[in-house]
Amino acid sequence: MLINHQNLRGWVAEIIRRTGSHDDEAVLVADHLVAANLAGHDSHGVGLIPNYVRHFQAGLIKPNTPARLVTDDGAIMVFEGGRGYGRRVAGEAMAAAIERCRDTGVVLMGLRGPHHIGRVGAYGEIALAAGLVSIHFVNVTDHNPVVAPFGGADGRFVTNPVCVAVPGTENTPPVLLDMATSKIAVGKARVAMMRGDQLADGIALDPAGKPTTDPAALFGSPRGALLPFGAHKGSGLALICELLAGVLTGGGTIQPENPRHGGVVNHMLTILVDPARLVDLDWMRAEIDATIAYVKASPPADPAKPVLTAGDPERAARAARTRDGITIEDATWEDMLEAGEKLGLARVEARALAGVSG
Ligand code: NAD
Repeated sequence: MLINHQNLRGWVAEIIRRTGSHDDEAVLVADHLVAANLAGHDSHGVGLIPNYVRHFQAGLIKPNTPARLVTDDGAIMVFEGGRGYGRRVAGEAMAAAIERCRDTGVVLMGLRGPHHIGRVGAYGEIALAAGLVSIHFVNVTDHNPVVAPFGGADGRFVTNPVCVAVPGTENTPPVLLDMATSKIAVGKARVAMMRGDQLADGIALDPAGKPTTDPAALFGSPRGALLPFGAHKGSGLALICELLAGVLTGGGTIQPENPRHGGVVNHMLTILVDPARLVDLDWMRAEIDATIAYVKASPPADPAKPVLTAGDPERAARAARTRDGITIEDATWEDMLEAGEKLGLARVEARALAGVSG
């Protein structure tokens, strides 16, 4: 089903309001989820609403929780998220860190304990809008592990994303590298399962640790595992996310003595850098233009697929989906309607908000 992004946003905001959020928070969370769909990342979009409702009903999300500054030491700031909606808490922490970065030129910001912060690129985009470089390491806790370490046969990590944002210029859009350290995000496997698709080879293991293309293997009990991207390198980066985001923020890692209530709690270590404190900005922009142009001028291995840089696929998806609408597969829409019903939102009302008849 194809849904217009504005209608979808209205539907999500109504769901979040029904978890008790004030209007600003509900709209922020709705914008964030729909923006992930617009960017082409359905894994981090509105299809998460059934999980959010389940977490809320289990007491694993605390609506209307702001970011709380717990360490304020010059260029070092640590915030506590108190299981608040991740977009609100992480957005507030980013705003405070950006303001601090105006004075200090660099900020190391720890954020521990919000609910799911969603598409990490959104926080890179906040830094880019302020003209800053940002680097984010994130781990995922409160959840069963789903990503095998290199050489292992069962899950020991979640999908621990890394994001790096570098401002663009008048001629070159920003670079926004935003990726899970697993071969694919868990949500992408969920979307494949909902669509009845198989996974490509070399992405997942079944519960016995053998290769599988069945996405359902990741959601059963016992469950299989995703593989890390880039063999030992992705596995190493997933571990670094545990150690930087999990340990240095004080939030904790995936190790089994930490609680796993079946929700999602993200911890994030962010480094913000004001490039103007390091280099001449005109020189920097000319160097960025030249570097990206050089990389993109590589002759495409497949003539139908020009060389892209990180952030390009999301920009293209955003343009197309803003124009054409967002496709939600039937099984996901059904789960979303059911989630709404759990909060007293009748199907007829939900369909009217989303502007759909199905
Ligand atoms: P992906 O594999 O689709 O893209 C990863 C990166 O590669 C992006 O920066 C993209 O712009 C770039 N890219 C894609 N195709 C490219 C090409 N042809 N040429 C050059 N660059 C290209 O993303 P993913 O790993 O599936 O992650 C999806 C989203 O999931 C991310 O937004 C991430 O933040 C989010 N995530 C969040 C959590 C969480 O706990 N909050 C956990 C895991 C992932």
